[in-house]
Amino acid sequence: MQTTIEKKDVRKLSLNELKDFFTQRGEKSFRAQQVYEWLWKKSAKDFDQMTNLSISTRELLKEHFTINHIRVDNMQRSEDGTIKNAVKLYDDLIVESVLIPTKDRITACVSSQVGCSLDCKFCATARLKRMRNLSPDEIYDQVVAIKQQAELFFNRPLTNIVFMGMGEPLLNYGNVLEAINKITSPDGLNMASKRITLSTVGIAKMIKKMADDEVKFNLAVSLHDAINETRSAIMPINETNPLEELAEALIYWYKKTKRKVTYEYVVWKGINDTPEHVQALVKFCKHIPCKVNLIEYNPIDEGVFQQGSPEAVQLYQTTLERNGIVARIRKSRGKDIDAACGQLANKS
Ligand code: SAH
Repeated sequence: MQTTIEKKDVRKLSLNELKDFFTQRGEKSFRAQQVYEWLWKKSAKDFDQMTNLSISTRELLKEHFTINHIRVDNMQRSEDGTIKNAVKLYDDLIVESVLIPTKDRITACVSSQVGCSLDCKFCATARLKRMRNLSPDEIYDQVVAIKQQAELFFNRPLTNIVFMGMGEPLLNYGNVLEAINKITSPDGLNMASKRITLSTVGIAKMIKKMADDEVKFNLAVSLHDAINETRSAIMPINETNPLEELAEALIYWYKKTKRKVTYEYVVWKGINDTPEHVQALVKFCKHIPCKVNLIEYNPIDEGVFQQGSPEAVQLYQTTLERNGIVARIRKSRGKDIDAACGQLANKS
């Protein structure tokens, strides 16, 4: 009696495994190259799109495999041009990804996990419990979807990618790395590593691992405060991964990669809007060459966290710059559709 076995996602196979699949069945191994190209370079969503394969070869593939491609379930457009996609995965879970257009860039902001386990007090994604990691192809597909939207709606190419959507990329490091390898590979999207930024809550051990792996993309750290007591209160990860360890890992990163780090920082009323916090940040910034993005707070609740005053933000910028540290004040994008930093929570 024949039992039904669940079909394997064909994109879990390497090119060599695909070659074996074909040769074991008496087919030419160059078929594997053709299929591989359809799967990655051309982002085929089903086997019938693979028109240079014979019908019988397509049937053979269908018999053994599926393609678990993501589906853009809902697309919202902000008045500032930002696009937010609710992306449905093969198991019906949903993540969000965002296209951010500016004068000279189109940036894709992608998710790395369904939900998040980190519990940062100011972030909407933290309220969704972590369900699972995204696979490399699910990350890749988000980029492809945004690349197509960039071409379709803006007639411009996708220029940058940031891992600033849902989830903590360094808690799904293997898959994120594999996705980035595909995104930068000539077999995939052939994008430049230097156009990619991974943003992390700052897991020291993993930052060192990235340095050892000699990754070629950029690193951003969500710092938000440089005093342990305050940072631990708003970002629980800091309790087990304090600023001293983070600093040590960043020094290690810089030594190995010689690449500047970006710190993301929100100024909140009554939390970090005093000169003491500004001074602590300046001191932290002296560890390695860096720049600071002072990002606007996107409210997610009834006012526990409130955006610091323009004067408080200005004090940060002026003091940092006076100390030779580049600091930029960043306006939020896509706020009206809950597409801004920290607002991704599957409301739709
Ligand atoms: N887990 C990663 C990436 C996801 S968050 C990280 O922590 O970096 C992307 C950025 O949005 C982070 O810098 C995060 O601190 C910030 N963020 C989260 N909630 C926010 C909010 N409500 N307003 C503004 N920025 C927020």
